[in-house]
Order: sequence, then C-alpha cells, then structure tokens
Amino acid sequence: MIRYGQQDINQADIDAVISVLKSVNLTQGPAISAFEQSVLDFTNAKYAVAVNSATSALHIACMALGLGPGDRLWTTPNTFVASANCALYCGAQVDFVDIDPLTYNLCPIKLEEKLIVAKNVGKLPKIVVPVHLTGQPCDMAAIHALGKEYGFKIIEDASHAIGGRYKGEAIGNGRYSDITVFSFHPVKIITTAEGGMALTNDAEVATRLGLLRSHGITRDPALMTTLADGPWYYQQVALGFNYRMTDMQAALGVSQMSRLVEYVKRRHEIAKRYDELLVDLPITLPRQHEDSYSAYHLYVIRLQLDKIAVSHLQVFEALRAKDIMVNLHYIPVHTQPYYQSMGFKQGDYPLAEQYYREAISIPMHPTLTQQEQDFVVECIKEAICL
Ligand SMILES: *Cc1c(COP(=O)(O)O)cnc(C)c1O
Repeated sequence: MIRYGQQDINQADIDAVISVLKSVNLTQGPAISAFEQSVLDFTNAKYAVAVNSATSALHIACMALGLGPGDRLWTTPNTFVASANCALYCGAQVDFVDIDPLTYNLCPIKLEEKLIVAKNVGKLPKIVVPVHLTGQPCDMAAIHALGKEYGFKIIEDASHAIGGRYKGEAIGNGRYSDITVFSFHPVKIITTAEGGMALTNDAEVATRLGLLRSHGITRDPALMTTLADGPWYYQQVALGFNYRMTDMQAALGVSQMSRLVEYVKRRHEIAKRYDELLVDLPITLPRQHEDSYSAYHLYVIRLQLDKIAVSHLQVFEALRAKDIMVNLHYIPVHTQPYYQSMGFKQGDYPLAEQYYREAISIPMHPTLTQQEQDFVVECIKEAICL
C-alpha cells in the first residue's frame, strides 16, 4: 500500500522517546522547552507554546487574541474543519473567503471585497485565519496589509507548512501575523504522534497561551494577584485546559526537527519529478507562487474533467484499487452538515467547490521511493485513459 502521507521514524527518534521513558519526567519536563526552542531556532519567532494538537493550538490562539461571543473569525472553506471550529469553541461566528484559483489558498482580493461590505454593515472580523494549503504560504503581505487597514488579527494555520518559506523567510517567524500554528500529526511534515505548537512574537500573547495550555494556572509570582501563601502555592488566573504535550512527544519532536530541512528538500525532489512525469496529462499540476518555498505537505492534482472520459470518482477508485491511498484535501468546510445547519449552503464558495470536484492528493512523503512514484504515475495515466 502506498499512502498519500506517512511519517518517517528512525532509530534516533526511538532512542529519544525511550530516554524520556527512563527519565523522571514523562510530562512537563525539559523536553518540552527543548522542542519549543528547536522550533524557535528554526523559525526565528520569539515565543513558542507546545500543545497536544494543532486544534488545541488554534483554540488557545483564538482565546489569547480575545475572540469571544459576538466576534467573527474568517477563514478559507478549503481547509480541515479545525481552522473554523476554533471560532465556535470561543462562541464566535465563522465566515469564509473563497480561494485563489491558482494557489487554492484564501484569496486576498476576495478578502478585500468582503471586508468592504462587512465594514459598511459593521460586521468586520476580529481574526482572519489564512491556511497555507499543501505547505504553500498564502499571500501574507497582502493579508497583513488588510489586517492593518481593517483592524483584524491574523492566525496563520501553518499545519501543512513547517519547513516552508515565504519571501525567503521561515514560515512561523510572525512577520505577517500575530500567531502561527503548526501540526505534528503523523501525516504532516514532522511528527510527535499528536501535537501542535503556537508561535508568537508578543510576550503577553505568549503568556496567555502558556496559561491556557495548563488550566489557567500559574506558579509565577509575577502573574499572581496576591502574594503566594507558600512554596506549594499556585493560582488559577484564567479558565484554561489541559492541552499539554508529553515529554515523550516533545523528545520525538526534537529528534524529527533535526531532519526537517532534509524532509522538505526530499519533498521538493518528489514534486519536481511529478511535475515532469505528469506534465503532458489532462491534469492541472500544483502551481507555485514566486514568493513561496512550499513545505510540500501535499501534492494535489486537479483533473481537467472536460478533457477526459472518466469521472473524478472513477479515477479516485481506480487508484485506490491499486492500493494507492489517494485522498482529497478538502471537502469545503461550509458544505459539512454541521456548517450547513448554521445556514451555509452549496454554492456559497464556488471556487472551493469546483476545486473539490477535481482535486486528488497523490502520495507525497519523504519515504516514497522512486519505484513507488513511477507506479503512481503509471496508474494515474491508466486511470485517466480508461
Ligand atoms: C491537520 C490540520 C489541523 C489539525 O491538526 P491536529 O494537530 O490534528 O489537531 C488543522 N488545520 C489544518 C489545515 C490541518 O491540516
């Protein structure tokens, strides 16, 4: 079986996890700050808070930026549901901005059009969540400029994008956003099994993220409202959660970070080969924006359905029948029953819906061999020419 995405675990990863298991701290130990520091070193951000998933990171990111009832968060419909659900956790409303037809990312032109309308009716968003789909960064300079003009905050959902760069700089450095979120789920670029991280350059936001990760509890006298009763004392100063990552996971993360550059390089090699081998077929290949160095979490092809005699479903099933576990990223969030029950409907975001009818994520991960890749290409050719 050839999966669309898959982790790479080596002996160093295993040794790192085992060394934590033999140590005193299985959680809240030194591996957490070591992992946070390694991601800070890589991205040049100032503060990092490791948590148990990107979903948790998105939730506390929204809270740390003050999102609450009566507020609005906008994101793209072409994403995993977590990018939108984080607003609902906070009692805020979600709305969507359709995608750019070439990069499939949140379109800054449509964003501006929607902001102009929203301003007139007094319904501007408090937060916008651009998602770096497939690892290709959004047009952050444009989105950031709109943020300044219309007064919204920005959370980059970079779940696909650790190791990628925008305008030559590491995604996560926070130049164009308030918070960046990474995911370390096994299909993503590096893994901690489950895990996520929120990065920021704002000390106060970082403090709030740290509190919310762990029950809103602090042992830092500077954050307490009164003097400590004694050395046992802690204070709950906010309503937080247990979103902590374990030290086993963080140690795995540190070990994986040492191969991040290599992983993304390998993903680019695979992408380049697909680009060459698939170029003559009636499919649209992923287009890379000139400001982008993608992390290449996914390689998405789009079928040119007017040029082939088979359906999207037929191609998908033909590949799955060959044990090529292709996938589809994403079902437009606004078409999910839960979102339809809030009033969203088919037709609301036509470009994301059109993309959904044509897109297939084909295998892309650093352990994919050349023979496997050749087999995938051969099967795509066969499936399309049925
Ligand atoms: C994977 C993913 C998430 C959620 O990540 P978890 O770590 O599984 O919670 C959020 N947003 C996007 C775009 C993702 O791909």
